[in-house]
Amino acid sequence: MSAAEKNRQALLALFGDDALVSKLSSTRIAVAAPSAHTPTSAALLARVLVDALARLWPNIDFVGEIADSLLVVGHDAAKAGAAPVDGMKLGWAPPYDMVLSVGGPPPDTTSPYLQIGADGWHVQFGEGAICGSSMNPVGPAFAAGLAAAQVFSHCFASALDGSGLRPLGDWSVDVRDLFKAPQLELRGFHLQDTHVFGVGAVTHAMAWMIENWPEPISGELHLADSDTYGDGNGQRYAFMNASNIGTSKVNAVARRLIASHPLLDAAPHDRGLNDYCADRGYDRPFFRIIAGLDSEESRRHAGLKDPIRAINMWTSGYYIGAGQYVPGDGRGCLVCAYPEPIEAQLDEVTMFYKQTGLYPDVVRELLDSARGLTEAEAQKVSQAKGVPVERIVGEPLRSVIPVLCATGKVPLEDAKKAVDVPFAFSSLLSGVSGFIMLLRDVQVSNETSECWNQHVFKKPSAAMIKIEGRHVRCVRCDANALARSGE
Ligand SMILES: [Zn+2]
Repeated sequence: MSAAEKNRQALLALFGDDALVSKLSSTRIAVAAPSAHTPTSAALLARVLVDALARLWPNIDFVGEIADSLLVVGHDAAKAGAAPVDGMKLGWAPPYDMVLSVGGPPPDTTSPYLQIGADGWHVQFGEGAICGSSMNPVGPAFAAGLAAAQVFSHCFASALDGSGLRPLGDWSVDVRDLFKAPQLELRGFHLQDTHVFGVGAVTHAMAWMIENWPEPISGELHLADSDTYGDGNGQRYAFMNASNIGTSKVNAVARRLIASHPLLDAAPHDRGLNDYCADRGYDRPFFRIIAGLDSEESRRHAGLKDPIRAINMWTSGYYIGAGQYVPGDGRGCLVCAYPEPIEAQLDEVTMFYKQTGLYPDVVRELLDSARGLTEAEAQKVSQAKGVPVERIVGEPLRSVIPVLCATGKVPLEDAKKAVDVPFAFSSLLSGVSGFIMLLRDVQVSNETSECWNQHVFKKPSAAMIKIEGRHVRCVRCDANALARSGE
């Protein structure tokens, strides 16, 4: 299936309306950068903004002093997802569905627009938003992620109606305040012994932050993931390009990080986290792990490796988040956040019913007879799950499930499960948040377990950060308590 088709299917799953999907291809966006003397923060902001936008939207115009280089960023991002690039060009031809004006007002105000600024840790939206000379990537990337999310919520406003969304308006914030870390500084740091489990979309966003941190980063950074890049990854992975497809994710990211931080010992490990840990041996405790994994189960596995400190990043539906876990003394660990499910296993009929939308008696009969789906049954599954009828008509039920799986149509039992949404801006914001949590962990070294959980289309707030206590059913915390009582 082509990347464009996967995007279409994923949007269908979210909105269930084909008309909305065609809106993607009919929407025109413009990115207006400053016309001269582009400040460093504006260049950072515009680059990461365009990288996120071009992975989803096919029609983008670029104007401003650095428009040429932004067009290249846009082309690279689109090509990584095997998307067409002919809708991206230099120039200004209003009206647009949305204009993103970086570091100042747009060239004209005939179209809806969002004015965005950033400098250092600071982000600014609306009237008077400007950019500054700081090389700190945190404010620019955070502003870019929010702006790209706002484009989506603006253009899909009718579909999102009822979510209580409001435009950001005139608003500014010091990102450090959102993460209760006012003492963070732009300075070099040492990572000690850090292990990244999962080098997917959110980890790519964090990697871009590390790459663009202008002060030296040193220490050991182990990257464990067995996957190679697929063409669908290009829809969400920050600064992934088409030449990455088919190559190892850990090798590519390690190369990028070492190129910008020669003192960083970034070591690629082409293995899943459990194989990596088995090879490494269990006699050496983990100091810090960073979880950028795609399932609740794998995050639980990461937490069970019992690191002294853990950073977690996730996207889940419209929510994104990042957490810092330093367990002990009532504080939660990563396993506390993903306790073992205690619900009874679903029986097969119920499971197929939930997955296909066919009534349980029909499911039972289909399973027992192994006959193919009738036209009417296929229609029903198609309507419920948004897969083409011709893909499933005449197929036995057990063959229908893989089709649903491949297109991301199998409903998740639990809304908290990490959902693979095709939103580059969600992955970006999650990775930026994870990087801020990493800075907190390295620079502040506080003994705390806290999570930041944010609706991606809503105005971020410091109220979204919460203390994470111990979960009563956490096997890791139970085992640690037992071990201590036996000492
Ligand atoms: Zn725990």
